[in-house]
Amino acid sequence: MGGPVASLVDLVLPRTCGGCGVPGPVLCRRCAGLLARPREATPRRVPWGMPPTVAAGAYAGPVRPAVVAFKERGRAELAGPLGAALALAVAVHAVLLPGRPVLLVPVPSSRAGLRARGRDHVRELAVAAAAELRAVGVEAAPARLLARSGRVRDSAGLSVAQRRANLAGTFAARTAAVPPRAVLVVVDDVVTSGATLTAAAGVLARARPDGGTPVLAAVVAATPRPVHRVGAGTLPGRCRDAASGARPDRLSGPRDSD
Ligand SMILES: [Zn+2]
Repeated sequence: MGGPVASLVDLVLPRTCGGCGVPGPVLCRRCAGLLARPREATPRRVPWGMPPTVAAGAYAGPVRPAVVAFKERGRAELAGPLGAALALAVAVHAVLLPGRPVLLVPVPSSRAGLRARGRDHVRELAVAAAAELRAVGVEAAPARLLARSGRVRDSAGLSVAQRRANLAGTFAARTAAVPPRAVLVVVDDVVTSGATLTAAAGVLARARPDGGTPVLAAVVAATPRPVHRVGAGTLPGRCRDAASGARPDRLSGPRDSD
């Protein structure tokens, strides 16, 4: 096989990093390292009721084109490394609630988004992240507990308050089959204002049969202003290990110099 066929394979299976474009893995070591820096995502104006949210890295530099390539340009193979990054963010929560099953609840795409992309990219991330977590012994599974109610309109150009109003009533929850001890973690690709995660987590929290455990959130990346790095001094032991790089093998990305 060669010539045009090989060229076609190269087109179908791009052999360049989705972040920086260098030939090689779908996400190179350096770019993957940018998503091995778990941090608390805190938008400039934290929406009231926003769930505690951990991001694997900052939505900046090569991380942006990597996420865009996965989300908008059909590079579905990036679900692997981006899902691993999401797993790391979820793990920061999971180590604080050991021994409890973790359900990764993807933020559902809008109907327009599904139509345009032909796939549910956040669900793909949730599936990949849950597999990563199970591989290191965390009882985790993707769970489609949220659906779109279809009443939302495009949020481009809206203020944070307007976005929040727009999102009210966006989601419906199906939590009847959720085990009482399960930890619910809403997952998404990127957090910016926190409005979507807040709306999603609020619907889930209200629908929980026990209402006990808070709903948490995790994302691949957070817009970099303003975020607070999860510092080693602010976390308990196991969590500190997760943040400092002493993570289980499947979750540890290559460390990058700060
Ligand atoms: Zn790269």
